Amino acid sequence: MPRYGMVVDVTKCDGCYNCFIACKDEHCNQEKKGYAAPQPMTGQFWLKIIGKERGQYPKVKQDYIALTCMHCENPACITAGDGAVYKRDDGIVIIDPEKAKGRKDIVSKCPYRVIYWNEEEQLPQKCTFCAHLLDAGWKEPRCVEACPTGALIFGDLDDPESAVSKAMKSAQAMHPEYNLGENVKFIGLPKNFVAGSVVFADTDECAKDVTVTLAGEDDTKTVKTDGFGDFEFEDLPDNKTYKVTVSAPGYKTQECEVKTYKSLNLGDIFLEK
Ligand code: SF4
Ligand code: SF4
Repeated sequence: MPRYGMVVDVTKCDGCYNCFIACKDEHCNQEKKGYAAPQPMTGQFWLKIIGKERGQYPKVKQDYIALTCMHCENPACITAGDGAVYKRDDGIVIIDPEKAKGRKDIVSKCPYRVIYWNEEEQLPQKCTFCAHLLDAGWKEPRCVEACPTGALIFGDLDDPESAVSKAMKSAQAMHPEYNLGENVKFIGLPKNFVAGSVVFADTDECAKDVTVTLAGEDDTKTVKTDGFGDFEFEDLPDNKTYKVTVSAPGYKTQECEVKTYKSLNLGDIFLEK
């Protein structure tokens, strides 16, 4: 018996929405008896693409995160022993389309907010990992099959040689603080960056190969500006204070303090003689 899980590699996702469309194609207006009632065409996103924009013009980055049910080991959505939501032996968490009728309370149990209320059916609904297809011999859900970039990696977590097991080693839960034992994890979840451009004030030229240091309480990073005078520090945690120092031989050193409450473009920094 496999134990299913998925890794979402955010660095490979280009936001094409193929996975989203495949999910709609598989589940909208079609009942999967014993697994799920039809997904409505609108208002439900069993697989949702979240667009995340970071930085300020012209230093802006756009990421896309495919968000679905995490098929948790300790699912917050399972209510005590009534069978309305249950976990299969292969790890898939299913909302029973019969027993969960009228149970609007289940929607708010999931802190990831991936359960949706179907007003017409009076039913809470969410991703099933396409369990009806896996039970029929498919190796992966429709969303994974549809992804052209390999951003969705699915398989047996108990097989150490599976691609998903290997990817899990460098993946993390989106919200580890929820303590749900998520079986869907992420690689490359976007963090903050600090970027800017350095210019020699006397010549108005891009300042190439200038040393830029970012010093925080626990760590110090140093980079050199590129041919356009640009620099960047990636993967910075939230709400940390850093001192940015820009120095080049023959020029006055520039310093400023930044706080990573979001990604920051420091703009043009002019070095004076
Ligand atoms: S992500 Fe939410 S809906 Fe999915 S198993 Fe975990 S608690 Fe339940
Ligand atoms: S199909 Fe793959 S690349 Fe396209 S949005 Fe979904 S996860 Fe991203």
